[in-house]
Amino acid sequence: MSASATSYDVDLFVIGAGSGGVRAARIAATHGARVKIAEEYRVGGTCVIRGCVPKKLLVYAGRYSHEFEDAAGYGWTVEGARFDWTTLIANKDKEIARLEAAYGANLERNHVEVVRQRATIEGPHAVRLVDGTQVTAGYILIATGGRPNRGLDFPGCALAITSNEMFHLEKQPASIVIQGGGYIALEFASLLSGLGTKVTLVHRGDKVLRGFDEEIRTRIATELAANGVTFEFGVTIDAIEEIPGGRRVLLNDGRALEAEQVMLAIGRTPNTTGLGLDQVGVELDIKGAVAVDAESRSSVPSIYAVGDVTDRVALTPVAIREGHAFADTVFGSHPWTVDHDLVPTAVFTEPEIGVVGLTEAQARAEGRRLDIYKTDFRPLKATLSGRQSRVFMKLVVDQRTDKVLGVHLIGEGAGEMIQIVGVALTANATKADFDRTIALHPSTAEELVTLRTKDPSSDMPLPDELPMHGEEPMVDEDAVESQMREGVPAAK
Ligand code: FAD
Ligand code: NDP
Repeated sequence: MSASATSYDVDLFVIGAGSGGVRAARIAATHGARVKIAEEYRVGGTCVIRGCVPKKLLVYAGRYSHEFEDAAGYGWTVEGARFDWTTLIANKDKEIARLEAAYGANLERNHVEVVRQRATIEGPHAVRLVDGTQVTAGYILIATGGRPNRGLDFPGCALAITSNEMFHLEKQPASIVIQGGGYIALEFASLLSGLGTKVTLVHRGDKVLRGFDEEIRTRIATELAANGVTFEFGVTIDAIEEIPGGRRVLLNDGRALEAEQVMLAIGRTPNTTGLGLDQVGVELDIKGAVAVDAESRSSVPSIYAVGDVTDRVALTPVAIREGHAFADTVFGSHPWTVDHDLVPTAVFTEPEIGVVGLTEAQARAEGRRLDIYKTDFRPLKATLSGRQSRVFMKLVVDQRTDKVLGVHLIGEGAGEMIQIVGVALTANATKADFDRTIALHPSTAEELVTLRTKDPSSDMPLPDELPMHGEEPMVDEDAVESQMREGVPAAK
């Protein structure tokens, strides 16, 4: 901390008490900094109040219908199962209020003063609160997150809701049109469909989840379609009209869809407007996000930014890391930066997606020669339930170093699995490390360590990179486990 910082009202003023801001404020305070944090809505931010946490609770709710269906093959008769949206939303609200209070209490316990109002920046060391108070600070941290993008103004666009409103709908929509093909569109399409809402997903592209591995992109759409989601690819919404009991959606190909609600899930916009950034000279990137260096410092040396407002990787654990690194670096005499390369991520659809590292296309674009390992099988649980859902796993391996560059999963528990796979990849695991890991049987995850046969899409090894003994590993019993599950007898 610079010596001059002590002449200010506080050492650090954080704007936004979300994932990144809360962590930065708390850690800075533990390093001895005098810290205030401003929050204009609810302490906890997007993740706790209207993002990850309430979303995951709704995801759990949506999965019960699949469990009830699957139970029959296991001898259960589930009679009279009924879902009540009002109960779910009320219970969710109670839990979110509990978490919000816990976040506030935790900040105060760590001697961070929470200012429950909007703050804007007036100078390199000054913020202005809505009540007119000016606070001076050695450093200012912008942690204002993002908000749902509502797209271009089209007729009736105000009739559409976003994820913000979805969490507070008084009534479960009987039907919904969701525009978008990203995380939010897919997660809500999946969970609402699980709860019995008729879902139509409208997406401008021909595949969902841009940036994910190509096979994940096509397979998840097939899985969700099998669960009842209707996909309309290659179209966008031109207009929305109010009709009795709902909305009529006019598509750009001339067709019309009718539904009780319309939801826009077309990305998020960094919260930088009206913050006073232009007058202090904080530079923004082309998307309006705060441009920062590896240490999260903006173009103004005393102003830093972390989390979604910087549009690096818009995920909670990343915002938390960035906030922590900032606080350690500026107030803890322990400089470090966040590695944004190996971030595990899950899409909480049914079935789930779990991903870490490079996609096959990204690895090829880097000019690497690759070994690809894949498997696609019906999970053991599905044998009695009769569900047609399939598990898909793909390992992208650097042929020269044997390092596992990326792992891409679809299936039950993929999110939980990928967290642990992330440990292996962070530790630079090679395919040989995966191979020498003993399988846990019977599990879905064991397939990750029993993939022995290279996919034909693998590159031919260069002559000087041929294996020492000139042969592929033998196919062994556990490598054909997935075939046993398909009802194909294992090779003896
Ligand atoms: P935020 O958490 O958005 O916090 C910013 C805070 O600043 C807000 O509370 C806002 O009210 C406040 N604020 C803004 N301007 C001002 C101002 N001028 N003065 C005072 N306060 C201000 N990520 C995951 O990792 N996993 C998930 O499963 C996941 N699910 C998600 C589901 C949904 C529906 C959404 C929308 C997001 C989800 N995310 C998920 C993303 C995750 O929520 C964000 O990446 C994360 O919250 C970013 O944290 P942040 O601190 O940058 O911003
Ligand atoms: P995403 O960036 O994931 O997806 C946005 C989608 O909207 C894309 O399919 C995009 O299409 C489409 N789109 C963008 N602009 C338009 C437009 N003008 N008209 C029509 N379609 C458009 O954003 P989300 O809103 O789904 O989520 C925001 C972020 O929040 C995520 O990227 C993720 O970082 C985070 N998040 C994480 C979750 C998790 O960890 N499980 C869950 C929810 C959110 P195209 O592909 O053509 O660009």
